Amino acid sequence: MDNEWKVGGEVDSWCTHCKGMKWHVIVAMVGPKLSKVQCNGCHKQHAYKPVPPGTPKPKAPKAKKSALPPPAPPVSDLETKLSGGETAARTYSPKDAYVIEEFVRHPTFGVGMVVGLPSAQKMEVAFRDGRKILVHQRGDGPPPPSTLTRPVRTEEAPGYVTDAPPPGGKGGTE
Ligand SMILES: [Zn+2]
Repeated sequence: MDNEWKVGGEVDSWCTHCKGMKWHVIVAMVGPKLSKVQCNGCHKQHAYKPVPPGTPKPKAPKAKKSALPPPAPPVSDLETKLSGGETAARTYSPKDAYVIEEFVRHPTFGVGMVVGLPSAQKMEVAFRDGRKILVHQRGDGPPPPSTLTRPVRTEEAPGYVTDAPPPGGKGGTE
């Protein structure tokens, strides 16, 4: 791409009169952009149109978004933190719930620090030999308390009058 445009130079542009891509002489510029060009075919001046009308603009390549949450940021001084948390570490159990920066003691991986909670019942734990995704909150215990509370009925529809005919059957005549 040659972007060294200057007034008087030539550029390929769509000509709305010739209905085609034509060489144009640059007539006017606004900053680094071409503003007006003159067609070499019909010698008419018009705005610079780098592509034929209706051409979709090339889309900038977008970074593919992963469905997974981004990994937790690296932990600085992990070794120091693990050493400090060794005594406080809880023995890992998938039934327990853990929070970020809590220390767990895994039977295989040793002491690790919870660095992320990527999804429900999953936690990312930084161990000395790498990060692992472990399950947690898989308890058999009672489910977490619901935030929905059943509305308590406080009154029993006082003064409700029934339409049913009074006992004794038909009333008298009108
Ligand atoms: Zn033209």
